[in-house]
Amino acid sequence: MEAPQEFSESYDVVVVGGGAAGLLTALLLARGGCSVAVLEARRIGDGTTGHSTGKVSLLQGTKLRRALRTNPLSVVRRYVEAGTEGQAWLRRYCEGHGLPVPGRVASTYAVTERGEDRARAELEAARQAGLAVRWTSDTELPFAVRGAVELDDQFQVDPVRMLNLLVADVVAEGGQVHEQVRAIGVHHAGDGVRVRTDDGRDLRAGVAVVATNQPALLRGLFFARLQATRSYAATFAGAWAPAGMHLSADDDVRSLRSVDTGGERLLMVGGAGHVTGRGAAAAHRDRLLDWARETFPDATLREAWSAQDQSPVDGLPYVGPAVPGDHRIHVVTGFDKWGLSTAPAAALLLAADLLGGSRPDWADALRSWSPRQVLAAPRAAAANAEVGWQLACGHAGRLLAGDRPPLCTHLGGVLTWNDAEDSWDCPLHGSRFGADGEVLEGPATRPLR
Ligand SMILES: Cc1cc2nc3c(=O)[nH]c(=O)nc-3n(C[C@H](O)[C@H](O)[C@H](O)COP(=O)(O)OP(=O)(O)OC[C@H]3O[C@@H](n4cnc5c(N)ncnc54)[C@H](O)[C@@H]3O)c2cc1C
Repeated sequence: MEAPQEFSESYDVVVVGGGAAGLLTALLLARGGCSVAVLEARRIGDGTTGHSTGKVSLLQGTKLRRALRTNPLSVVRRYVEAGTEGQAWLRRYCEGHGLPVPGRVASTYAVTERGEDRARAELEAARQAGLAVRWTSDTELPFAVRGAVELDDQFQVDPVRMLNLLVADVVAEGGQVHEQVRAIGVHHAGDGVRVRTDDGRDLRAGVAVVATNQPALLRGLFFARLQATRSYAATFAGAWAPAGMHLSADDDVRSLRSVDTGGERLLMVGGAGHVTGRGAAAAHRDRLLDWARETFPDATLREAWSAQDQSPVDGLPYVGPAVPGDHRIHVVTGFDKWGLSTAPAAALLLAADLLGGSRPDWADALRSWSPRQVLAAPRAAAANAEVGWQLACGHAGRLLAGDRPPLCTHLGGVLTWNDAEDSWDCPLHGSRFGADGEVLEGPATRPLR
């Protein structure tokens, strides 16, 4: 980024979080004439967007089938409509800025019998939701596959280049983007909000949009409706590289696509997801890398990384007021590893609401609060019972441990050491801290002592 900008006295909107959701929202608001500041705790690209696998697809693994468990078909159809409008917007945006987004086939494939059952159920769910999907047993994948759902004309994007374009555009529209400024509090004040930052500022704004991915800074108990799951990705040289973008429906989810870097085509793989802070992280990562090396013996590892995203208990993202009826603090989270594909729709919806435009017909699919979430109450209860169990087991184990692990500054969970990334991770709600105790990811906002 260029030289830091001066802060203003006040803004129409402060957006907390400089990932895809925050920057897209900021851009639309700035274009709509709002004075906007984006606060990014780390560097642009350090969050989940910059570490995603870059697929912008309406076929999203087995998501539609899962969403139908807790949502009526009419709402799932609107989720697809939202994604379609957002995807078209992002395609136009990238093409208009010289960022190549060639069309690709997306697939949900199956290697195992269970995977095939899920993939066929996804085929049915996707058809019902209005997608022009087909079933095939003839895929480009170079290993035995039982079959796959396919959808034409999806695309992939370099997420870091996309974020950098968005930053430049926000600034060109008169907005501000401040890196290495962490919001530590968002409160109502008068008829607006105040946003406190870790460098001692108290910014005034009419509205705050909390786009931090993890549910930090919010009332509304979002952390109890979300589960943070971490997963791994890697690039390999010298291996087969696909033309399409593929995701398996099997228990061991695998993602495959190609990436072109400086004249070289690499294979990108992803998978081995798990709840953050639970299990040995390096073992999860190695499971993915070993699979890639066995499947593609000529492959040479180039780079490996991991990231996490929030899965909502009722399957669809939360976009809107942080508590019902509050029109000053808005939230956008719960993309369930599909935020690159869905954040554009979330931003279009927030912009319509905050600029007073007409709400899209599909708005109902992306709601922060909705009666349909009652349907997900058993899943929320099960997830929170598991959190309670993890809390109790963690503390019992800690009493016996010689070298006691630190406690999370969010709700006191016993942290586990992440041996893949040298961080302390919380098995309750996914907060992460560096080895020096600094917050890497919330909902925690205070460092370890
Ligand atoms: C391994 C992996 C692969 C993925 N691949 C895909 C894919 O192929 N296609 C797809 O559609 N989706 C994919 N996703 C999901 C997608 O990347 C996310 O849903 C999306 O990037 C979320 O965007 P965001 O803006 O909400 O979060 P982020 O990109 O994480 O942005 C949030 C930002 O907020 C900042 N922040 C946090 N707290 C504060 C604070 N207190 N103050 C200031 N700033 C703060 C963070 O530093 C961060 O930069 C993937 C996810 C993972 C984990």
